[in-house]
Amino acid sequence: MSFGGPKILIVEDEPSQLELLSYNLSVEGYEVLKAETGEEGLLILQEQEVDLVLLDWMLPEISGLEVCRQIKRGKTTKATPVIMLTARGEEEDKVRGLDTGADDYIVKPYSIKELLARVRAGLRRKSASGSTDVLIYDLLSMDLVRHKTTIAEKPIHLGPLEFRLLKVFMEAPGRVWSREQLLDRVWRDSLDVDTRTVDVHIGRLRKQLNKVSDIDYVRTVRGFGYSLDKPS
Ligand code: CA
Repeated sequence: MSFGGPKILIVEDEPSQLELLSYNLSVEGYEVLKAETGEEGLLILQEQEVDLVLLDWMLPEISGLEVCRQIKRGKTTKATPVIMLTARGEEEDKVRGLDTGADDYIVKPYSIKELLARVRAGLRRKSASGSTDVLIYDLLSMDLVRHKTTIAEKPIHLGPLEFRLLKVFMEAPGRVWSREQLLDRVWRDSLDVDTRTVDVHIGRLRKQLNKVSDIDYVRTVRGFGYSLDKPS
């Protein structure tokens, strides 16, 4: 067991799950705090500073949802990233649809690899908040100073126009851009380009992203344009 790494609180009432998570996170060098109820978790958060919370949705007594709300309401805890652990189906829909304030969620059963990637993304988001040099959306990260783009830490190789396109998307995730708006932002004064050029470069951007990730982040909005989205 190592100390000094980022501190992660796991709130999970199933002992076998709790141990499995705790083991895998400790191996990665994280310092792990464990709670079997929401109440216990909230107490720990009052007493010490935690870098990230992994929070089970289905907990006895106080639900994960309520714990999340309290974390996001707390003065000292509201900036702490919360990743909800949910079951497939109804809970998944709820965590996506409700305004829980959760930063991310993982659907059970999950792979440890995915979990670790989401934990790293959550921690990066935390350390990058307040900095405009790094843009983060879901598992995507763009370092504007080093000109490095990654998905779950795997590098993506982008040409200059694809880099600028992705930057526009990352600055306003979910916003739908028309081809004309993208031309304006990315190509600026170039007069010899038309909207088909946008489609070509969107295609290239997509191809590069899909080389390292199964998640299709670039969404085509029929009859309008494109946006950056985590597919549902
Ligand atoms: Ca549970």
